[in-house]
Amino acid sequence: MSEQANDAALRHLITLDGLSGAQISEFLDIAESLRATAERPVNKLPILRGRTVVNLFFEPSTRTRTSFELAATRLSADVVNFDVAASSTKKGETLLDTLRTLEAMRCDLFVVRHQENGTPEYLARHAAPGVVIVNGGDGNHAHPTQGLLDAFTIRRHKPDLHNLTVTIVGDIQHSRVARSDIHALQALGIGQLRLAGPAALLPEQLQSSRCQLFHDMDAAVRDADVVIMLRLQKERMAKALVESDRDYARDWGLNADRLALARPDALVMHPGPMNRGVEITDDVADGPQSVIFQQVSNGVAVRMAVMAKLLGAFQ
Ligand code: ASP
Repeated sequence: MSEQANDAALRHLITLDGLSGAQISEFLDIAESLRATAERPVNKLPILRGRTVVNLFFEPSTRTRTSFELAATRLSADVVNFDVAASSTKKGETLLDTLRTLEAMRCDLFVVRHQENGTPEYLARHAAPGVVIVNGGDGNHAHPTQGLLDAFTIRRHKPDLHNLTVTIVGDIQHSRVARSDIHALQALGIGQLRLAGPAALLPEQLQSSRCQLFHDMDAAVRDADVVIMLRLQKERMAKALVESDRDYARDWGLNADRLALARPDALVMHPGPMNRGVEITDDVADGPQSVIFQQVSNGVAVRMAVMAKLLGAFQ
């Protein structure tokens, strides 16, 4: 059983696991309608005026935190960036007391990033009525807004998802992005999903009828419509699980020669942060097939959609 009932109205966004294609499409459709606003010079909508969003990040983040902050601001919400390093969590305050304290100040929505799997779900179980928790990435479990924005980016370029082959390459083992991408793309009926990486970083249990595992990068990339590259998450490895960066780049890096094996109009994606010269070369990251910075822009619209929907603005 998935962690979220997929029929009841969604209250929190913890994982995409268990969401239906229709539920995921609804977020993407709202994002599409908000995208134009996000990109206008005067880019504010009064949708969340009077509501307060708290960014509660226990792990470093550049894109996700800024993106949630901009998204909330563009919906006219007030935003608090809770500074964990300077907070009472360092004095031993429990996570739940931190939540209660901020709830008592009438905060409406918490974006939670944490190194431990399950923390956002734990807070969601204890949140006061009406308070919404959005997972901003927990351990290697889930990163649902990244899954949505990746699906959104693919759908904008290649709407016929049923006929697409998407290849995800790299450190699948430690990647919450890969897991959320898999859930989003499978729910939307993607044609073929390929996962590729060194054996130590490619969990066998992900093999399924709709997910094929590859231990050879060239084979995984051949004729793909989309190639999603992942960073080696060394901070989550107790010991080195791969050869040197140089060997990794040779065996698993996306360079122009490898990209030429994919379809000529294949998209290149990466959730960031990129380790240029390791999993991706500069010419590919900055080349005409790369939509990496479009992913970043789309992330704002998708997060606007998620917050607006969960706070009841689109029923
Ligand atoms: N930014 C993504 C995440 O938080 C991917 C990464 O860190 O490699 O999971």
